[in-house]
Amino acid sequence: MVSIDTLSYQYSPRTAPVLDGISLTVADGALFGLLGPNGAGKTTLLSLLTGLLRCPPGKIFLNGQDVASRRGPATGLALVPQEYAFYLPLTVGENLTFFAGVQGLPESQIAERVDHCARRAGIQDRLRERAGRLSGGLKRRLNLAIGLLSNPRLLLLDEPTVGIDPDSRHFILETIRDLNRERTTVIDTSHYMEEVEELCDRVAIMDHGRLLREGTLAELLVDGGGSLETLFLNLTRRQLRD
Ligand code: ATP
Repeated sequence: MVSIDTLSYQYSPRTAPVLDGISLTVADGALFGLLGPNGAGKTTLLSLLTGLLRCPPGKIFLNGQDVASRRGPATGLALVPQEYAFYLPLTVGENLTFFAGVQGLPESQIAERVDHCARRAGIQDRLRERAGRLSGGLKRRLNLAIGLLSNPRLLLLDEPTVGIDPDSRHFILETIRDLNRERTTVIDTSHYMEEVEELCDRVAIMDHGRLLREGTLAELLVDGGGSLETLFLNLTRRQLRD
């Protein structure tokens, strides 16, 4: 579904590349974990996939189509960003209805879709509440619900559980698992090793814009003597030495 070929990217010709020769394939139906510390380049990679940043030609293909040749907004995929991407003074229901309209859903389907996505994210009882008054965990769930409105086949999650309590974290991870079982391909970027270990079937480890290792979770656990953290530390220390 996603194919990335020796992708490099720099924000300015005067600064060092923040992505350096990344090659990666994500199969249809995968629950793929992109693991890396702050500043590794994960958000930049997602922004190139969605078209928020302009991608060089011949470097990223989505379902065989070069994203550099895409005209108009990407279809079939959604990004749930790290920041809260909704209006704090509006209610949960108003936000969902507004973003359903922005995403081009037909008027006749909006109410049903809003209800469905609110249920998926476990916020159906909060539709009349102001988004700004929600707890951090519920704000994350609203962010996720907005990402689900267009019923994407490819869901890109940028640190979906950062800074939230265990209950909300558990709920969000369960929801991601369910979506994946229903054939949504998921790329989950995170710096939480336990999250990636708990959730993903394939994992890529990146740091300083480079892909250090990619494989099935089982393969990576063998390499790390049973621990993703050990593998991660070994790889990042080796990169520093090199
Ligand atoms: P985090 O988890 O902290 O978001 P990340 O792995 O998502 O980290 P990026 O946000 O992609 O990493 O950042 C990679 C590098 O690119 C960092 O050094 C960052 O400072 C730099 N960077 C990000 N956005 C910009 C920008 N708009 N202009 C210039 N440099 C940027």
